[in-house]
Amino acid sequence: MTTCYENARVFTADAHSAECFVVKDGVFAFVGKADAAHRAYPEAERIDLRGQFVCPGFNDSHMHLLNIGCMLTQAQLGPASDSLSHMLSALAEYVNTHPQEEWILGHCWNQDDFTDEKRYPTRDDLDRVCPDKPCLISRVCGHVAVANSRALERCGIDTHAIPVDGGRIVTDETGRPNGVLEENAISLVTTQIPAPDRRQIKDMLLLAMAHVNRYGVTSVQTDDFVTTKAPFEEVIAAYLELRAEGRMTVRVTQQCQLPNLETLRRFLSLGYNTGWGDEWFRLGPLKLIADGSLGTRTALLNAPYADAPDTCGIAVYTQEALDELVLTAHQAGMQIAVHAIGDGAADRVLHAIERAQTICPRSDARHGIVHAQVLTQAQAERMKQLNMHAYLQPIFLDYDTMIVYPHLGSRADEAYPAASLLRRGVTISGGSDSPVEPPDVLTGIQCAVTRESVTRPSRAPYLPREALSLRDALLSYTAFGAYASFEENIKGRIAPGMLADFTVLAIDPFETDPSVIHRIPVRQTVLGGKAV
Ligand SMILES: [Zn+2]
Repeated sequence: MTTCYENARVFTADAHSAECFVVKDGVFAFVGKADAAHRAYPEAERIDLRGQFVCPGFNDSHMHLLNIGCMLTQAQLGPASDSLSHMLSALAEYVNTHPQEEWILGHCWNQDDFTDEKRYPTRDDLDRVCPDKPCLISRVCGHVAVANSRALERCGIDTHAIPVDGGRIVTDETGRPNGVLEENAISLVTTQIPAPDRRQIKDMLLLAMAHVNRYGVTSVQTDDFVTTKAPFEEVIAAYLELRAEGRMTVRVTQQCQLPNLETLRRFLSLGYNTGWGDEWFRLGPLKLIADGSLGTRTALLNAPYADAPDTCGIAVYTQEALDELVLTAHQAGMQIAVHAIGDGAADRVLHAIERAQTICPRSDARHGIVHAQVLTQAQAERMKQLNMHAYLQPIFLDYDTMIVYPHLGSRADEAYPAASLLRRGVTISGGSDSPVEPPDVLTGIQCAVTRESVTRPSRAPYLPREALSLRDALLSYTAFGAYASFEENIKGRIAPGMLADFTVLAIDPFETDPSVIHRIPVRQTVLGGKAV
């Protein structure tokens, strides 16, 4: 099967001058001028792209695909949040159309948008629409949820509240829990939800893959091992079945979250390692989480938060524990990617990587920091010395431009680096951390280029000297993403011999006002030559 795509504006990284490319058996066979393509491939079927823009398929270098799928299988209450009664009838509709579900889960309600009664729903509201099965619905922020009586019974908190560290079971005036759960109290219920079986995991992954395809995404680097209670073996098995059945619509690199030595050793003893798999499903780095997040002031800083002088955030591991995990994976030949948002966490990761490289030098290990939001120039230089990679999420700027100065004070003057990392020689790649943000690459590219919020009233750009050029922003979601997973020789560029993964945009972003890049329609997402 040979197809000649012509009359296109093809982004080839060097210049976007090519007008035509040929796909043969799932691989790019030719890029250049149409008459040369016709001579070399006279048999090819011709497709006229009518001047549309074509770039390599987008690669989201850090996200949570299974978590996206989990959320997509739940009741979507956001669109019904114009009133409490509408939200409850949407939930009732979901209950009626999902008789096979053991648990009824929903998310994204927001009482601020209710026009009838501006209050949290209660267990009594939920009992009216879901009397027979346990039900839990999360507020849009994820920090508040409401459970019905069946769910409260399962945790033994239906008649009286108990104290919860870092959380609260809300009660009515008689002392009876009213269903509202705050922060850590939510996990009393979520820990009761059974692990999904393999069929459910596959269904969730299929939904999530179709979802990201709409944004032009053909490759994801995803952290799925701790999303549900299913062990990592089940997650790997689900992907391998989908791959064998030919149902993958995204190429997947698994960022293997193995949070303790016991699990890491079990993984290694089974013969798994970075690079295991093929171009459809591959095991990537060991993924660790070193600190929390900036918005909740749990990111680990070296000095207290500007607006909370009593806290520096939290460290998930002691330095010794992090050092041991990193060294174990490094000596086994694994790549390592560690979530570090605060500069304190970055220091710990740099220490662990430097120590591992000193004990056991390895070239081209491509260890990385995921997020790297509060990162000094001195730390960036250490990353360069250690040949490290930065997994960035430019779409975070959409919200975080509002909180960086309040939380960080003057440290915000060198946070969220991007252009300076590239100039220094630190490799970078773009991602969304979805479902934290939508897997919306064009919005991410716009944020990277403008350093401004897309959805909120515009203020001055945040540190415009860190803005990427449009070319570098596109590369960060294509070729540089492929580099992060050691796949730069098989994908991420439109060039002969590369996998024919590409995205067709209605309009050339190089000829678009940067403030509206996010509105460019994605016309086609093509994986290995097949439209998905
Ligand atoms: Zn993440």
